[in-house]
Amino acid sequence: MHNKLAVTGGSRRFFKGKLCLAGLLMLLFWHLLPIQGLAADGGRQVVRVGYPIQLGMTEVDEQGNYSGYTYEYLEEIAQYTGWDYEFVQVEGDLNESLVTLMDMLEKGEIDLMGGMLYSSEMEQLYDYSSNSYGIVYTVFQVLYDDTDYVNDSQVEKTLRVAMYGQSRKHKEEMEDYCRMNLQIPQIVPCTTIEEHLRALQEGRADVMLNTSMNYIEGLRTVARFAPKPFYFVTSKGKGGLLTKLDEALHSIEQTDPYFMTTLHEKYFNPSNKELKLTAQEKEYVENTEPLRAGVLTDLPPYSYQDKESGELKGISVDLLKAIEDKTGLVFELVPVENEEALAEMTAEGRVDLIGGMSYDYEQARHRNMAMSRPYISTQYMILLNNKMRNEEIAGRKLAILASYDYQGEFVGSPVYYDSREEIVRAINSGEVDYTYMDAYVAQYFYNRSEFENLYVAPQMLQENRTCIGVSKPASPELLNIINKVIITMPEKELQSIIYSNTIYRSDITLLEMVRRHPLQAVAVAAAVLLVVIGVLSWGVVTREKLNRKISLELKKHQELYGLVNDYFFEYDLKKELFTVSGKKEGEKHENNVVYRLFPERIADAPENGKYREILRRIMHSGRDGVEEIQLPGINRELHWMRIAMKNIYDHKGAPVCVIGRISDINEEKQERDRLKNQAERDSLTHVYNAKTSVRLIQERLDQLADGGTGALILVDIDKFKTINDTYGHMEGDHILCEVAGILQDSFREGDIVGRPGGDEFIIYMERIRDTRTLGDKCERLLQRISEIRMPDKKSLTISLGAVLARPQNDYDSLYIKADKALYRAKKEGRNTYFIA
Ligand code: GH3
Ligand code: MG
Repeated sequence: MHNKLAVTGGSRRFFKGKLCLAGLLMLLFWHLLPIQGLAADGGRQVVRVGYPIQLGMTEVDEQGNYSGYTYEYLEEIAQYTGWDYEFVQVEGDLNESLVTLMDMLEKGEIDLMGGMLYSSEMEQLYDYSSNSYGIVYTVFQVLYDDTDYVNDSQVEKTLRVAMYGQSRKHKEEMEDYCRMNLQIPQIVPCTTIEEHLRALQEGRADVMLNTSMNYIEGLRTVARFAPKPFYFVTSKGKGGLLTKLDEALHSIEQTDPYFMTTLHEKYFNPSNKELKLTAQEKEYVENTEPLRAGVLTDLPPYSYQDKESGELKGISVDLLKAIEDKTGLVFELVPVENEEALAEMTAEGRVDLIGGMSYDYEQARHRNMAMSRPYISTQYMILLNNKMRNEEIAGRKLAILASYDYQGEFVGSPVYYDSREEIVRAINSGEVDYTYMDAYVAQYFYNRSEFENLYVAPQMLQENRTCIGVSKPASPELLNIINKVIITMPEKELQSIIYSNTIYRSDITLLEMVRRHPLQAVAVAAAVLLVVIGVLSWGVVTREKLNRKISLELKKHQELYGLVNDYFFEYDLKKELFTVSGKKEGEKHENNVVYRLFPERIADAPENGKYREILRRIMHSGRDGVEEIQLPGINRELHWMRIAMKNIYDHKGAPVCVIGRISDINEEKQERDRLKNQAERDSLTHVYNAKTSVRLIQERLDQLADGGTGALILVDIDKFKTINDTYGHMEGDHILCEVAGILQDSFREGDIVGRPGGDEFIIYMERIRDTRTLGDKCERLLQRISEIRMPDKKSLTISLGAVLARPQNDYDSLYIKADKALYRAKKEGRNTYFIA
């Protein structure tokens, strides 16, 4: 006990000493290691990001405002991780600063950098994020107004390519691309960007070679190839950081799969999306009769015939309409029952083009068709009978379209059918085991309620790209016009065509699918999202490695959704209607908070507590992202929910609905609050502990506006040692708690009550006018404390030292003054107060 007295007897001094030490340490850190460590700053992690200044990627203006693709991505990541960033810039031009920063990253002097392509050598030095956050292409660019570039794959011709300093790799990619497009590249060497532009202006070069992430004003991209994903990298051994980063990247992908595209358009394609037709092309449009476009009726959601109206619908149909709108071409849609009939019609010249066909050279040659640029790219899925889901595919019965042109070998034993629908029926009934199908088509059938026994498994190896086919001999103008529309079509427009055909016009909503098979649905959705990664396989990482990575990702997604209590929702903006996955109509779902909190109609929500208003504001905000809200649950107790949402637009760009995910985060929040409380409070008396009271009081002092006042009061129990010695330590503890209770009870809510240690308490009062009021307060406190009685009915007494706080006062100096005042109160016989 005596030992303990010695230590706590000096508690005041010790407390102050610790403060100074902390200050000193901070200063030392500041000077010696200007960019040291992942500092915890009020609970937020500061991540040091290498920030080389690079147009479009990482920019900073004169006012010090940051912008750019990587910057915005990082800010979005911070929404999920809660990170603060310190953007570290170093001397030198882009190349020099990259070298310096990467060196710093390797040494761990910074934590993170973006814009990294994958290479196995680099992977030895840095850790890569498991998802890429963008794709860079090698591109051909022309002057913005130049409409002469014609990518006519029918005729071989030379192409003068302005280039400089690009790597051999770029050159090889360019040569590959040219070879495929029957172009013979002729290099026009240049040394600067200006020279490039001059070569284009003076007509010495047809195109310049560039990368899609190197934005040069006044240029327009006419061809892109050799996609390469890029990543964030961290220093080795920053596992925690990497995990958080990966999780955030996943979340972004899930809430807004088009975030990448939107950013890319914003920073690298701001004005390139204008369609420019050459004089010949315009002439072609004017002099051409309506073109007959063959459209398959059995290829939903690409093309199909509406059962009621007989109207042709689908992604391909909408795309053809978009081409009509944008160019003035006129298409006469010819419904065609199946592939076989279509092949016949093209052979006989009864159609001029095909609305949707696989971007497959072999098939195109076979059918004597020229192909446009692909306008959609998904991957093939394996559609199988539910019973087969855990079985080996090898040796099973594979269903194939009779008209399928594939000439190679099959792993399984193929059974032929005339239409896709027949195939799906056969799989559903168990007559055959599986087939391969484009992800969108598979999803369409999977959504239909009559096919209950289907299971969709992602199959990452193969990509299916869809294009428009033009019958040969194809007019080069027609092919060019179509290609220009496809290339210049804003990503958002294309996405809304896809969305409106896969979600809205199908008989059954995406949501229903999710409701029926939540886990599989997530797998499919995740797989579709991961198509982006699929592109990655282009010579970047070996296939096996990639596949392992992807299947791991998928597994993670699945497991995650299985574990957490998440729900999908669709919200109809016009009808103000919520549909939540798994919620059955007419049932009350008394025990399910999410179902109860999300009424079918916003209007059904209780009006009080502004609950209806809050929900409406969030859902109609037009914002994509994540919101955390508190809604009244059982017994009006507030319940925390997280809503991740994405707005869906129709083809005119008007918002139609919001889809997303609701997570019940109440327990998570409560646990967070509990931990926070635990960390901030003194375990015996539950007032703020030493560290927290200093921080809070300093915050208040910093906020003191001109003319504002506050007061600091130190309380020390009189002869507490004797109390402990007389009645025992337990009774001492009890008295400390009683004092704390009275203190908390005696001050306003905004005031701060803390226990620095021992038998000492500290109070910060807000808005205290003068010493007289302060004196009255102290007087009343002495009075109230004296009501505490010890076991032998003696009154407890305390001594107080107080001081008024003014703007610009700092904690340390106020504390010293209050401490001196307290000392005087003790000296004057205790049970009294003194104001400094
Ligand atoms: P004074 O009137 O001059 O303040 O005399 P004092 O005896 O109160 O002296 P001081 O404030 O220096 O002593 C504080 C005592 O509080 C010392 C220690 O035994 C006791 N103490 C410190 N922490 C605790 C605790 O958590 N529980 C209990 N019961 N006693 C404590
Ligand atoms: Mg004391």
